[in-house]
Amino acid sequence: MKIVIVGIQGAGKSTQGNLLSEKVNVPYLSTGHIFRQIATEKTPLGRKVKEIMTAGFLQPDDLTVQVVESYLDRPEYEKGYIIDGFPRTLEQVEIFKNNVDKVIYLDISDNEALNRLQFQGDGSRPDSSTEAIKKRIELFHEVTEPVIDYYRKKGLLLDIDGERSIEEIHKDILEKLGK
Ligand code: AMP
Repeated sequence: MKIVIVGIQGAGKSTQGNLLSEKVNVPYLSTGHIFRQIATEKTPLGRKVKEIMTAGFLQPDDLTVQVVESYLDRPEYEKGYIIDGFPRTLEQVEIFKNNVDKVIYLDISDNEALNRLQFQGDGSRPDSSTEAIKKRIELFHEVTEPVIDYYRKKGLLLDIDGERSIEEIHKDILEKLGK
């Protein structure tokens, strides 16, 4: 089972991705986590990734797809995966060679996202400043909404109201996946 989870930062993708992963026994991975790890490396790539991330921008599409595909080639993802944070642009959809079965869209309002993130933010992440958060909400509408429309047209999108309790959302996702 190949599943993509999309939504604004703060929508609960990682919480729901991990819950789903446990329930259906398919591994979870997130490109945000992968890039934060790369950003700690003292290499030219690590420094470049960190700089882009700190500004709240997306990494280049070709680099992103290359990184994701190299992860998905690992044996643990042979039977499927739940990926959070990718694809995030139409270009990534086009370059990405792996087919996906379903796309879960965790939908919350911009205000809810801002409230949740400002409340949670402890400044420990290089990308957790209010400026970076606002930039990414803006970017989400600009570049990720077309990805959502694309999967909706393909009939793969599951619209999930993300402004409910964790348990309610989890149940809804399982029901819509037919699990
Ligand atoms: P996230 O925690 O998912 O918001 O990701 C943190 C950072 O990782 C983003 O600000 C980007 O710099 C990078 N990133 C994660 N996923 C992607 C992606 N699909 N395309 C480009 N950059 C990404």
